[in-house]
Amino acid sequence: MKTAPSAPPAGTPRLELENLTAGFKAKPVLTGISLTLNPGELLALAGPNGSGKTTLLKTIGGLLKPLGGRILLDGRNTAPMTKREKAGQISLLFQGTGPSWPFTVEEIIAQGRFPYRGVFGAEHPRDQQAVARAMEAAGLLGLEDRPVTELSGGEFQRVLIARAMAQEAGLLLLDEPANTLDPKYRFMVMTLIRSMTGNGAAALVSLHDLSLARLYADRVLLIGDGKIAALGAPREVLRKDTISRVFDLPPGASLHIF
Ligand code: ADP
Repeated sequence: MKTAPSAPPAGTPRLELENLTAGFKAKPVLTGISLTLNPGELLALAGPNGSGKTTLLKTIGGLLKPLGGRILLDGRNTAPMTKREKAGQISLLFQGTGPSWPFTVEEIIAQGRFPYRGVFGAEHPRDQQAVARAMEAAGLLGLEDRPVTELSGGEFQRVLIARAMAQEAGLLLLDEPANTLDPKYRFMVMTLIRSMTGNGAAALVSLHDLSLARLYADRVLLIGDGKIAALGAPREVLRKDTISRVFDLPPGASLHIF
């Protein structure tokens, strides 16, 4: 399932977290988070409910201020970067409640081009090409004009992934992109993410389904008790003893990660 990444496009950033503390004013959720994520790498983020996966993704994406430490993209501290500058480098996908407005599939995917639009928002042929490529890769050809309110959950999730693809950002931060999908679409969504890392993007993807982490990730970051519990290759991290401890499984609970 893992494809060897091709040479990263110029400008694909390397993410470094240096002793990061993430959380809310009165409440640090994660402390001492240090790691490097390289272009072409898919790092799965796993941990129990409430362990801080979303908080970490939001902090790296700039939606929450770090309480301590630093976030570097290609050696540059992200703190002073503008939103537009970050949007050119980071693609965010958080769990939503589904579509509320009947924009078309094409309109939603074209939102991914926002960071590249000029002052008057004019579309360039490059933008149209990126949208068309993303639509094709996500298997959405023929649905361009369909209002997203009339899509199935699996189709809408693919639209959101296609929007992230069209953004052509070097760093993808995806929160549970495969959740609520049936197995076919889980695999399809993971294959799409893997194709983006195959083009050089780096991806940090939170996953409930540890089998997907095992199948698709290069490394797994397991968090628990407010810190890194394990970080390494899937077969090193996704061991029964480690998972039982971090997820506080009852003795004798059977665990099957294929
Ligand atoms: P996960 O994504 O791993 O399920 P979260 O990052 O959503 O975990 O939550 C981590 C912790 O932060 C939880 O204890 C949660 O209650 C808390 N939390 C989440 N959002 C807020 C908020 N806006 N203000 C204060 N605490 C929050």
